[in-house]
Amino acid sequence: MNLEPSFVPNLAFDYLKEVEISYSVTGCFSEQDLEVFHSFFGEHLVDATELLEKCKIIKYSLTDNSRSIFKIITKHEQYSIFDNINFCNCSIFRLQVLELRNAITCKHILAVKLGEITGHVVKETITGSQLVDFLNEQLNCLDGE
Ligand SMILES: [Zn+2]
Repeated sequence: MNLEPSFVPNLAFDYLKEVEISYSVTGCFSEQDLEVFHSFFGEHLVDATELLEKCKIIKYSLTDNSRSIFKIITKHEQYSIFDNINFCNCSIFRLQVLELRNAITCKHILAVKLGEITGHVVKETITGSQLVDFLNEQLNCLDGE
């Protein structure tokens, strides 16, 4: 198969959405789900599940739920992940996803996705101006390099 690079992430993220629905019914991942995950995400799947065990994920949503942003926090690091946008500020994402294009996404985004599916996410509501603050924070991070 010779898929367009931008096409594979869509397939993978669509699959995650499907699994989210089946997980909400069965409460677990099937063996097939795990195999498909692994074929999409490779080693990052293992890293993401390890990360999920030791991180805290907070989902900040506007009161009308129109926009959300996730913060994934461990002892050593913290990343902001936008809902439905495949972008993370970490070095792996930059190298493997943007430069080498040999990975769909990084462990942070995958951990957030898996966290959402398994109910590992703390939900908080924010105002529009707080969301703007988050966005600015993210932009400042990008400028700083
Ligand atoms: Zn990342």
